[in-house]
Amino acid sequence: MSQTGGGGDKRSGTWHRCCLWRGPATMDSAEFRRRGKEMVDFVADYLEGIEGRQVYPDVEPGYLRPLIPTTAPEEPDMFEDIISDVEKIIMPGVTHWHSPFFFAYFPSANSYPALLADILCGAIGCIGFSWAASPACTELETVMMDWLGKMLKLPEAFLAGQVGEGGGVIQGSASEATLVALLAARTKVTRRLQAASPGLTQGAIMEKLVAYSSDQAHSSVERAGLIGGVKLKAIPSDGKFAMRASALQEALERDKAEGLIPFFVVATLGTTSCCSFDNLLEVGPICNKEDMWLHIDAAYAGSSFICPEFRHLLNGVEFADSFNFNPHKWLLVNFDCSAMWVKKRTDLIGAFKLDPLYLKHNHQDSGLITDYRHWQLPLGRRFRSLKMWFVFRMYGVKGLQAYIRKHVRLAHEFERLVQQDPRFEICTEVTLGLVCFRLKGSNRLNEELLERINSAKKIHLVPCHLRDKFVLRFAICARTVESAHVQLAWKHVAQLATSLLATPRD
Ligand SMILES: *Cc1c(COP(=O)(O)O)cnc(C)c1O
Repeated sequence: MSQTGGGGDKRSGTWHRCCLWRGPATMDSAEFRRRGKEMVDFVADYLEGIEGRQVYPDVEPGYLRPLIPTTAPEEPDMFEDIISDVEKIIMPGVTHWHSPFFFAYFPSANSYPALLADILCGAIGCIGFSWAASPACTELETVMMDWLGKMLKLPEAFLAGQVGEGGGVIQGSASEATLVALLAARTKVTRRLQAASPGLTQGAIMEKLVAYSSDQAHSSVERAGLIGGVKLKAIPSDGKFAMRASALQEALERDKAEGLIPFFVVATLGTTSCCSFDNLLEVGPICNKEDMWLHIDAAYAGSSFICPEFRHLLNGVEFADSFNFNPHKWLLVNFDCSAMWVKKRTDLIGAFKLDPLYLKHNHQDSGLITDYRHWQLPLGRRFRSLKMWFVFRMYGVKGLQAYIRKHVRLAHEFERLVQQDPRFEICTEVTLGLVCFRLKGSNRLNEELLERINSAKKIHLVPCHLRDKFVLRFAICARTVESAHVQLAWKHVAQLATSLLATPRD
């Protein structure tokens, strides 16, 4: 610790520079302890004080480049300088997703236990592609996915248990889960058809494959079709923005008559635009009868199914081959953590398994071994189940349920405020934490209202289109949002509407 070379003060900048000869490690464990504690304080101060920050930044595109050097420093910088630059350079360009005045998109989960688990995950820093690569990483994930599956009352077939055929895996995102399901389904149908008619080439099959989702599905579903090289057709949703049997059946009959091969359906529970629910009890049996893989995307809404009063929204999951939702949206587990279950793990493993020698280990054939690299697109994976373990234990199921219920209550509170103002209308049924509303009147009027809301930057919202209507989405997002924030947000929206309606228009 005393190789100060030039005799400089250890705490001054010169200490780091003169120690360069020791290698690139400029932070030792003693300094890490000190800086780590400071960083925890910085984070707690940030989150405690976030309400005082403007929720949406004032910067223009390209704001950052002129504020920092054009190349990385040759000599190490000081930690103090980096931290002070966070406030000077980074924070002015941050959208504060965890501000209680952030009501845009869907929530992004955030909790202290998850943040702490993430530090531990970084420290262990394993790449858990196989059981042997870090047994705890694989085994905790399998058990956490079973815990979570039981919280949702998923059918037994989706759980890993001791030697189950099903099981769960943590993907990075719902988009990835949809793509993985589509690719597995594509492999499965291809093998089935080739077994029946050995002369059939993969190319000949691929060009006939067709997948379906509702016209309200997330754009990631369409992307999965593009990446997977198969046709994806949008089924027109009904008056409540739900996919129904009749419309799906109609498309199927038409496509089969044209010689196409229907093989994959994505049902959405809780659509991104308006939180509508596809009719699983109608769509599920059709998928089973037609031998099509049914994947359920419940990215946002899935968290609510841990509450008995919302569990009915998941009825019909028994028809599905795979089911996915994002604890990183609404279950207090910081990004990334997307929970995916399959009924038959062999469907995934069968599609993605390759075993080069350097990844083999000598536990291959035990039924207890899971090598998660076969369940996902990348090879590498972080120890993300630590976040679930910390959060589930620190909150308990009751704490998690209370959290969901509070958000739903706040959404209904906002809904009532909108209903009490005759200038506004509610656009779709409020089931969970999202309220879709608009001024009665033209799209132009509503676009202008949103423009005024987002340029005032007191709250942040994003819009959606429901058929031909421009609609404002008010999503309960932050962990710390309270009734007072919702009331303030509504007062603000109502005032902006008053001034907008007072403006003479042409
Ligand atoms: C948010 C959302 C997604 C995308 O989630 P990622 O994890 O970011 O890929 C997909 N589907 C629905 C319904 C969503 O709401």
